[in-house]
Amino acid sequence: MTETPAPTIVVAGAGLTGLSAAISAREAGARVVLLEKGSREDVGGNAAFSGGLFLFCYDGPDDLTSITEDFEPGMKADRIEAPPYTRQAYAAELSAMSGGQAEPRLVDRLAERSLDTVRWLAAKGVRFTFNRTVGAAVRDGVLHIPPGQILTCTGEGMSRGFEVIRPLLAHAERIGVEIRWSAPLVEVVRSDGRVTGAVVGDGGETVPAAAVVVATGGFQASRELRRECLGPQWETVRLRGTRLATGDGIQAALRAGAEKAGTWASCHSAAVDPTMPSPQRSEASPPFPLHGFWLGVLINRDGERFVDEGPGPWVKNYSKMGKAIMRQPGCEAFEIFDQRTAARVADEFAGAAEPIVAHNVPELAERIGVPADRLAHTLEAFNNACPSGDGAAEGRGTAGITPPKSGWASPLDQPPFVAYHAVAGLTFTFGGIRIDPDGRALSADGTPVPGLYAAGEAVGGLFYGDYPGGAALMRAAVFGRVAGATAAQETKRLPTPAAG
Ligand SMILES: Cc1cc2nc3c(=O)[nH]c(=O)nc-3n(C[C@H](O)[C@H](O)[C@H](O)COP(=O)(O)OP(=O)(O)OC[C@H]3O[C@@H](n4cnc5c(N)ncnc54)[C@H](O)[C@@H]3O)c2cc1C
Repeated sequence: MTETPAPTIVVAGAGLTGLSAAISAREAGARVVLLEKGSREDVGGNAAFSGGLFLFCYDGPDDLTSITEDFEPGMKADRIEAPPYTRQAYAAELSAMSGGQAEPRLVDRLAERSLDTVRWLAAKGVRFTFNRTVGAAVRDGVLHIPPGQILTCTGEGMSRGFEVIRPLLAHAERIGVEIRWSAPLVEVVRSDGRVTGAVVGDGGETVPAAAVVVATGGFQASRELRRECLGPQWETVRLRGTRLATGDGIQAALRAGAEKAGTWASCHSAAVDPTMPSPQRSEASPPFPLHGFWLGVLINRDGERFVDEGPGPWVKNYSKMGKAIMRQPGCEAFEIFDQRTAARVADEFAGAAEPIVAHNVPELAERIGVPADRLAHTLEAFNNACPSGDGAAEGRGTAGITPPKSGWASPLDQPPFVAYHAVAGLTFTFGGIRIDPDGRALSADGTPVPGLYAAGEAVGGLFYGDYPGGAALMRAAVFGRVAGATAAQETKRLPTPAAG
């Protein structure tokens, strides 16, 4: 067994959570070893594939221009329609989307530290710009942005999130975080009830440490855990992000005395293009997300609708569409549009997904392989249930059908019809380690496991059935930062554990 010099804090996982934890612990004066299971090319975990959208609180334009004005001189806040997003609104939204199950103390901490943490990221070199794409739209020269979802990091395309990681990695290296690539955490070592180190890799090397911060992501990349926790149909699902979040860090924390939290039977899953595989490297494109469902209807293989496609802005609902598709025959569906919205959808999909075009309903049924009579009946019932008058809008819902379409309900009666084949893409799992709002891992009796901390997707208790877009990157940065600072603070006066 090799021996290494005794660091103060080991952080496992070089995603957004781990980088935030490592930087904050280092800035609080700790020696930090950051262990990453993947190679340097894998840095960033899911954030590297993400849209870079952050959900955070702000009172008004001043809060925003102080973060963005250096980078977007042409985009002044007076051309943006973005009402304040308060801590109360953040907490209420998270609580409502979790069906009241989200742990209130975690919700409050996330909301409370969100703006300050966006500023902290900006100070480390992360560049933010106003969100022009994710649920945002320009009308009459004014940019309308959903509340709270106002900034993304700068960068191009759906995977711009790597631009959050690049400056943080550079900053971590600059301030002396010791990063070890291809070095998975396999065990948390405890002695006399407190953490004394981390076992790394297959060789059994122990890195002595006064604290371990588990930031290893969810368990969505483990086929076995997917089958066991989410159900057998999830075994072969496409991943939307990292292939390395297999839950081994979570399991190590549980073996070290931490308790499980949250729902292990649910996840974030969007409708995606089935022609694209799970990404194998950070620079690979994830399966293209088909966020057009709210402009049309979703139909299963039997020709039936099965979900409310418009309960609110898509960016507050897309994370449950994959789960709805997974419950359908063959775990597949079709998003269907007519000429009222086909051009807008094509624009949003930007040629990334292949449309199936049909001039009438029987041809559409044949081309997508569903029973023609069922499809005709479904579309007729849907069209009859749409409100009269022209134009789809939030709140214009169907009447008298199940499931309803609660918003943007507009008849599909202007052929040619356009369909896109959709399957579920798994983004991340919701269950994980129990923590307190300061990032301490908690045992079954609710007391902290001394020296053990956790944050980000490795943690449960915040997200349940649904999730507001932008809250996951925000959770990663807020709780990573908090856990790193708490670990540094609480180990300051501890003797360095002996090596070996
Ligand atoms: C396609 C896509 C789009 C998204 N878009 C958004 C968005 O716009 N806004 C938003 O809020 N959220 C978004 N998310 C979610 C967001 O990216 C994640 O919630 C967040 O990045 C999770 O960070 P994390 O560091 O906790 O976990 P991860 O990103 O999973 O990072 C965990 C890291 O730990 C490493 N690791 C795993 N096991 C070990 C081990 N045993 N030892 C050491 N290292 C280990 C992994 O390799 C990885 O680098 C998106 C996700 C995807 C996939």
